[in-house]
Amino acid sequence: MAGDMLGAIEAGGTKFVLAVGPSPDRILARHTIPTRDPAVTLAEAAAWFAGQGGVRALGIGSFGPVELDPASPQWGHITTTPKPGWANCDVAGHLARALGGVPVGFDTDVNAAALAEYAASGKAGGSLAYLTIGTGIGGGLVLDGKPVHGIAHPELGHIYPRRHPLDEDFAGICPHHGDCLEGLACGPAIIARWGCSLSDLRADHPGHAIIADYIAQGCHTLFASVAVAEVVIGGGVAQTPGLVERVVERARALDAGYLPGGTRHAIIRPRLGTESGITGAMMLAESAAAEA
Ligand code: ZN
Repeated sequence: MAGDMLGAIEAGGTKFVLAVGPSPDRILARHTIPTRDPAVTLAEAAAWFAGQGGVRALGIGSFGPVELDPASPQWGHITTTPKPGWANCDVAGHLARALGGVPVGFDTDVNAAALAEYAASGKAGGSLAYLTIGTGIGGGLVLDGKPVHGIAHPELGHIYPRRHPLDEDFAGICPHHGDCLEGLACGPAIIARWGCSLSDLRADHPGHAIIADYIAQGCHTLFASVAVAEVVIGGGVAQTPGLVERVVERARALDAGYLPGGTRHAIIRPRLGTESGITGAMMLAESAAAEA
């Protein structure tokens, strides 16, 4: 059923965050459910929105990979995920039907977060990347004010950084690439090497510099390839005290004063804290409502 509110879902591999509100900056109610198989999870999400009086449009920022080509019959699907039951799942279509045919905006979770952080930056026409460093590494990209899709969507966690000299024996944990950025610097890769999270390593442990080096290389790649003004770093690992400062310092050293953006390139924590993803999903709903 269609209501007056915008609805939003931050769809993650372990939980779905649901929200409703009249606008992206005003969330009036929210609810978190665990991610189980699609039938159960999507039905529970739809039932919660119905219990809120329905929505007039829904925005979904989803874990992936996802299909974002509006011309594809698979648009709105999660595609090749190894997560049991979710491969080729029509998330957008299922929820649109369950909510009475409302318009649905659909993008990656990290593009949604990038959109929200971009809006919060107040810089119209600019550019921004959002990196999340947690159980995996993902990245969303807004260029000239628009989320970047390309022929699919960026997978910034899967670039290959140069190996740190103190880290040459670790094979990396990405099932596809081994020592890509995610395979070297996500939370599970840190635990695989050192047996604890980055925040639990003692302050003088070399792991701090190693992880900061890899993330700084990711930031440098974004500055050098698409000249974003800001790289916003979120996710659980990024909350390690001192990490973002180390990344800033290391990225400056890696660049050695070359890039023409100079000090206009910034690496920062999320302006919206942990609200970037759900706020971005609300923005996707707002856009879908405007286009309908
Ligand atoms: Zn990889």
